[in-house]
Amino acid sequence: MKRAVLEIDEERIGENVRKIYEFSKKKIIAVVKADAYGVGASLIAKILEPMKYVDSFAVACAEEGVKLRSEGIKKEILILGGVLKEEVPLIKEYGLVPVVSDDAHLEALKGHDIPFHVKYDTGMGRLGFLGKVIRDDRVAGVMSHLSSPANREFSLKQIREFEKIVELYGKLEKVHMESSAGLVYRVPFTTHVRVGLAIYGEKPLRDYPIDLKPALRLKARLISVKEVPEGFPISYGGTYRTKKRTRIGVVAFGYADGLMKSLSNKGYLLFKGKKLPILGNITMDMTIVELGDCDARVGDWVDIVNEERSFSALSRDAGTIPYEIMCNLSTRVERRVLRGGKRV
Ligand SMILES: *Cc1c(COP(=O)(O)O)cnc(C)c1O
Repeated sequence: MKRAVLEIDEERIGENVRKIYEFSKKKIIAVVKADAYGVGASLIAKILEPMKYVDSFAVACAEEGVKLRSEGIKKEILILGGVLKEEVPLIKEYGLVPVVSDDAHLEALKGHDIPFHVKYDTGMGRLGFLGKVIRDDRVAGVMSHLSSPANREFSLKQIREFEKIVELYGKLEKVHMESSAGLVYRVPFTTHVRVGLAIYGEKPLRDYPIDLKPALRLKARLISVKEVPEGFPISYGGTYRTKKRTRIGVVAFGYADGLMKSLSNKGYLLFKGKKLPILGNITMDMTIVELGDCDARVGDWVDIVNEERSFSALSRDAGTIPYEIMCNLSTRVERRVLRGGKRV
């Protein structure tokens, strides 16, 4: 019996993928690196693989690709993070498609009949060739990455830069640039979009034009409910003192599960739509909340993220980004796929 659960709504995932396709009119390279941002790469890939809008998958490194293949994933798997020499045998054996973004990657692939994509740095300042174009019979696609999708002017500059490179190639099977936030640019010359976060219904920008629906709910159980007197210190360091007689609840979810300590004395959890302020320091396995007059009892579920409060909203309170919180969800949190509201 797990005390903390991440529920994954399969239908919502399907709807979001369809909406992304309908908005972009391009098939999706589903980015499931870092264990699908902590959601669970094999669960997510198995949900996505049968969908006609999903062209392929992308992961960070060969090892992640091998894991997906071992779970039975058949669609193409792109390795975003370059090629190290030692990874070439795995790439071959498991039929993975690497992205080449450095001369050393080309060198590693020398003499191997392995198709690859080429990445160009149009202003991301991370991976990608700069100032040269790779011509090779094995090139199966080209890509670039936007660094600041919220900055329209800079993004348009990157898009123009990429277009010039793409034109040099003539016909290419796959050209991709837009991530979840980048979708708003509807780049006319790309053939695919490379999307991760939006699949879960998390909106990566304010005024996001796609009506995504939250597909994730993160919940944990209440393990104690009690009243403490006025002026009572709460949690390590006693950084919070009750202002009056207070009903407090202890939730089985702490920083070891992935709740940022920066939310201590600041964030809130939710019970039936009511906000429960976090009191005192978040601890390793537990977080203390003010229950007020709500009727929550030991054993009840308290929500950390749900329909009303996304990972994006939580991350704003914590001073970080949704990706970081999701990636930090620990293995102690059970991942549970729901279909029609019921456990699969
Ligand atoms: C992670 C990643 C993506 C996906 O980004 P989202 O914001 O999750 O859609 C796309 N492209 C590259 C190169 C990435 O590293």
